[in-house]
Amino acid sequence: MKTMPTLQDANQANARIKPMIWQTPVIAASDLAEKTGAAGIHLKLECLQNTGSFKVRGAANKILSLTDQEKKRGVITFSTGNHGKAVAYVAGQAGIKSVVCLSEHVAAYRVEMIKALGAEVSLKGHSQDEAEKNYQQLMAARGLVPVVPFDDPMIIAGQGTIALEILAKLPDTDVLLIQLSGGGLLAGMAMVAKSINPGVHVVGLSLEQSPAMLESLKAGLPVQVEEKDSLGDSLLGGIGFDNQYTLPMVEKFADEHLLIAEDEIKDGMFYIFEKHRLIVEGAAAVGVGALLNQKINVKGKNVVTLLSGSTINSEEYLRIIQGRLPKCAKQ
Ligand SMILES: *Cc1c(COP(=O)(O)O)cnc(C)c1O
Repeated sequence: MKTMPTLQDANQANARIKPMIWQTPVIAASDLAEKTGAAGIHLKLECLQNTGSFKVRGAANKILSLTDQEKKRGVITFSTGNHGKAVAYVAGQAGIKSVVCLSEHVAAYRVEMIKALGAEVSLKGHSQDEAEKNYQQLMAARGLVPVVPFDDPMIIAGQGTIALEILAKLPDTDVLLIQLSGGGLLAGMAMVAKSINPGVHVVGLSLEQSPAMLESLKAGLPVQVEEKDSLGDSLLGGIGFDNQYTLPMVEKFADEHLLIAEDEIKDGMFYIFEKHRLIVEGAAAVGVGALLNQKINVKGKNVVTLLSGSTINSEEYLRIIQGRLPKCAKQ
């Protein structure tokens, strides 16, 4: 068995990534707490994070810890977007060359954002797994250093720093609602939270459209699920065929799992806009969507959920919000 990242690794990550990230705010969602009977609900605003998502934490921890030799070779990754953006940003800041491999499924505006950060983009394949194959080939051919999106102890430790910030501000947290796709986020945050307070109840939030981690947990090995479009597109994708870290860590640390439907994502996005005046992408809204739809009993509990990112194009965002507004009578 490989060595899993620990609280100490997250503490080291916290010091290492300081120059590249914001310590994002935590705000109270009192209205939502009242609706659900929770003692308190707080939102951790990684939607305000540098590059538009928390992914910059893991990427910075990995890239800044490379040897000088590795930094000279340059880095390569594949990603549904936010990780690619984070790698491009960190590499750019550190003066390192970066190549990002994407599937043709990734929205065009995301491709443009990554290019704008100075990375070379290679578009190939129709799924995340096909983009991964292209990445394997380019890595070997050009001697680039891989920076994977989730299945790496340094990435996991980097994402774990979110939980360090949450528990420093809210030590009485009972329940953490955490998005679950490849599992780097949940593995890191849950490992840190439970190392500090073993009583924290960790709930994973997966897409009904693409529950790759849940299917893999059931099967006891990584399985591929059919990829459908989702409003939570940052949560699409498999867990990698040779997954070594996030699958066992999610198995160990997640206490409960919820599947989130597309309508619940819309509910969450609209609520976050209406009550908190924040713009988030679909993946970020799944926790609020689950709470609004009473998918979990949080009576008397102190709950924290993460608004994980804000990468969404304006047209799509406005369409979703407008679709939830009461129709105005024509003049
Ligand atoms: C990547 C991502 C997630 C999920 O993180 P994993 O480590 O893949 O489970 C959730 N929200 C956003 C916005 C993301 O970019």
